[in-house]
Amino acid sequence: MKFIVVTGGVMSGLGKGITAASIGRLLVDLGYRVVPIKIDPYINIDAGTMNPFQHGEVYVLKDGTEVDLDLGHYERFISMELTGEHNITTGKIYRRVIEKERRGEYLGQTVQIIPHVTDEIKAWIRNVAKNKNAEICLIEIGGTVGDIESMPFLEAIRQMRIEEKEEDFILVHVTLIPLDAGGEQKTKPTQHSVKELRELGLYPDVIVGRCKEKLKESTKRKIALFCDVDKEAVISNEDCDIYEVPLKFKEEKLDEVILQKLKLERKNGSGEWENFVKRMRELKEEVDIAIIGKYVDVKDAYLSIKEALKHAGIHLGCKVNCIWIDSEKVENGDVNLDYDGILIPGGFGKRGAEGKIKAIRHARTKNIPFLGICFGFQLAVVEFARGVCGLEDANSSEISRVEHCVIDLLPEQKKITEFGGTMRLGEIEITIKPETIANRLYGKERIFERHRHRYEVNPEYIPLLESKGLVFSGWSDNKRRMEILEIPDHRFFFATQFHPEFKSRPLSPSPPFLGFVRSAVEFKRQRSN
Ligand code: GLN
Repeated sequence: MKFIVVTGGVMSGLGKGITAASIGRLLVDLGYRVVPIKIDPYINIDAGTMNPFQHGEVYVLKDGTEVDLDLGHYERFISMELTGEHNITTGKIYRRVIEKERRGEYLGQTVQIIPHVTDEIKAWIRNVAKNKNAEICLIEIGGTVGDIESMPFLEAIRQMRIEEKEEDFILVHVTLIPLDAGGEQKTKPTQHSVKELRELGLYPDVIVGRCKEKLKESTKRKIALFCDVDKEAVISNEDCDIYEVPLKFKEEKLDEVILQKLKLERKNGSGEWENFVKRMRELKEEVDIAIIGKYVDVKDAYLSIKEALKHAGIHLGCKVNCIWIDSEKVENGDVNLDYDGILIPGGFGKRGAEGKIKAIRHARTKNIPFLGICFGFQLAVVEFARGVCGLEDANSSEISRVEHCVIDLLPEQKKITEFGGTMRLGEIEITIKPETIANRLYGKERIFERHRHRYEVNPEYIPLLESKGLVFSGWSDNKRRMEILEIPDHRFFFATQFHPEFKSRPLSPSPPFLGFVRSAVEFKRQRSN
C-alpha cells in the first residue's frame, strides 16, 4: 500500500482540495486504484450542522454522511463514490476513543493523545485503505500546518512515515508564492511553512507552489535549496480553471515525480479527462442562468450546482454563466428575471422564500426553462397550488402554518426534536413514471439519487395538484413521497426533491441538468432568431 499525504501551509483557501483531487486524477489516469481520505480537524462530528455562510455547501455522500465540499471535488475528479469513512474529523476520532474508554478497553490506562488518539487515526486510515482495496491512499489534511486542531493528525502521519517503507510514503506540501509590488515571486512564506512542518518531524517530498503565474526556474531552484527537495519536485500551480489542474500537473511532470518516488510503474489509464478539458476549451455558445438563493454572496455555497451546470454545458458545447440573485431582493422589488433559465436551489427557512416563489411564477407563466431542487421543488408545488389550484394561502409548514400546508412533515418526522442527522439523507431509490420528461432524461425507470430534507409533498393534496396538470413523475417509499414534478406543456418545468447535483460528474453530467441546460440553449436560440 502506498500513501500520499497532502498538507497545506501559509494560509487556507489555497485550493489544497483541488490539488489533492487533481493528484488523485493523475493517479487514476496512470491506471491506479486511488482511495481518498479527507481529514477535517474540526471538533464537529460532521458538516451537517455547519452554516453555509461560513463553510460553503454541505456535500452529501451516498450513505448520507454530510461532509465538507472538498469531498465533492474528490468524487468529481476521481469519478468514484465515497462514504462517511472517507472523511475523518476530530469529533469522530474522539468519539471512538471515548466510547472505548467507557467500555474499559484501555484496561485502566491514562488515555492520551499519544498514543491512543494517534493510534485511532492511523488505524482508521489503514482500515479504509485496506477495505477499499486501494493501491494508493491519498490523505488530505484540512487546515494549515501549525493549527492547534491538526496537531494530533500530523503526529499520526509522522508516526506512519516511520512505520511504512520509505518508498511507500510521500508528503506533498501546498504553499503560496505571493508576488511583491514589483511582481517578484516570493519564497519566504514557503520556507517558513516548511520549517514549521520540520519542527513537527515531517519533511516534504513535493512542494506545490500556488501562484498567480507560473513559477520561474529561479523560484523553483530557491525553494528546492531552502526546503531540501529536488528541483523537479517543486511543482508550479498557477491560477486556472480547476479542471485544467491535472493537465497542468502533467506538464510539470508531477506524475513522473510521484511514480519515481513511490517506485511504481506507469500503467494504462484512459485519456478521458484530456478529451473533456479539450471540449471545455472549445465552447461555442453561452447561456445565462439565474440562480435565486439565500446564500448568493457566499462563494461556494452552491458549489455542486455550479459544477453540475458546467458539466452539462461542456457536454452540450456551451458555456453556462451563473447569475446569482438574492431571493430577498426578488421578494422586495422588481428584479430582472428574463434569463435563459431559472434555477431555484435547496434552502431552509422563511427568509427569501416568497422571492423564490415569485421567480417560479415568472418561469411558469413566461415559459422560461426552470429547474427546482429540493426547497425549489417544494416551492414549485406551493406556487402551483396558489397560482393554478386556487389555494391562495398555500404554503410549506416550514415557512408558515396555514390552512393549506401542501408541503409538510410526515407524521414520523414531527416527533423528532434534535438537529444533527435528523434529515432524510443520502441515496434512495426512486421509481420513474413511463412516458414522462423524467423518463426521457434518465432513460430508465429506477434511479438512485441523494437527499437532504425533512419536508414532503403533503399526500392529501396530490390528487388536486395532479388534476390541474402537475405531473409527479418520480416517487419513492411506496408512493408515500413525491420525488420529481414536471409540467408537460411547458418548455421545461422540472423539479426534484433530491439533489441531482451531487451525482453530476465532468465525464457524466446529471440528466436533469442536461435537460435544463439543453432547453435553455434552445430557448436562447429561438429568442435570438
Ligand atoms: N427545507 C427543506 C426541507 O427540509 C428543503 C431542504 C433542502 O432544500 N435541502 O425539506
